[in-house]
Amino acid sequence: MAQVQGLIINSHGRHFSVEHQSKIYQSTAKGKKTEYVVGDEVLIDIINNDQASITDLVPRKNLIYRSDHYRSKIIASNLSQLLIVVAIKPNFNIGFLDSCLLCAESSEVKPIIIINKMDLPESAEFALKLRELYANVLGYQVIELSALTNCSQLEELISNQQTLLIGQSGVGKSTITNQICPNANAKTGEIAKYETSGKHTTTHATLYHINDSSDLIDCPGLQEFGLYHLDIEQIAWYFPEMREHLGNCKFHNCLHINEPECQIKKMLDNNLIAASRYAFYSRIINNLKTKKHY
Ligand code: GDP
Repeated sequence: MAQVQGLIINSHGRHFSVEHQSKIYQSTAKGKKTEYVVGDEVLIDIINNDQASITDLVPRKNLIYRSDHYRSKIIASNLSQLLIVVAIKPNFNIGFLDSCLLCAESSEVKPIIIINKMDLPESAEFALKLRELYANVLGYQVIELSALTNCSQLEELISNQQTLLIGQSGVGKSTITNQICPNANAKTGEIAKYETSGKHTTTHATLYHINDSSDLIDCPGLQEFGLYHLDIEQIAWYFPEMREHLGNCKFHNCLHINEPECQIKKMLDNNLIAASRYAFYSRIINNLKTKKHY
């Protein structure tokens, strides 16, 4: 049996599509209890023209995952950037955006914020406000577009990159995917996906090759983004507006919640940290404090 290296481009529960030299093998994992995910490089035993067994994992560069009180779920691996798509419609949730940014920071993957649906009249003011905080204050790259018209602004951005596209349902991820990879055939519109968008049901990601050196991973149905696996003492470090001020508090292990002489609280009182960002920070800290261990 020939053992070769392949790339997981699709997963459905414990079934994976593994690509090797442009051929796709339907594969299941053999032996070890490793969890595999889209983006993984794996070793496979080829069984026949269509089938293979996954025998081992090539070490990952990074791994994106989410978690709730009880368990974590890996989403994709070996990424160079995270495109976080937001739109004023159907329902913008700033907590989701902050969670995606925190996820990117903690995984050391570069985040880029895409504001889609700029053709809607109410988007201009929405984009201005987001830009004010996320680009001007926090320094993140923010791009505005209307995916219905075109996504040419993204072409250069995703070239030579391994990109994961995330965002709440309905923001336009599939529309963007189809614009970038016309043969992706990603389902757009309401009904197709909301059936599978339950909270912690399966995450069904797919990797599309844009060219030899650029891949796009689409991850529909990701409605929430728990980050219970993070280390409570590291969280502030993942907030760019807090990072350079850490170490200036009275207590070296200050969590910036209600400790005395806290530099971060002082900055908040002086409007040097956005109230919405601090509210998100303290919500994460409180969630992690109540974390149960099983
Ligand atoms: P997904 O759930 O994030 O994959 O979102 P879809 O790509 O399925 O898009 C959800 C809905 O928004 C569809 O009806 C799209 O036609 C629509 N949509 C996507 N991009 C745009 C855009 O730039 N402007 C407007 N007005 N609607 C868009």
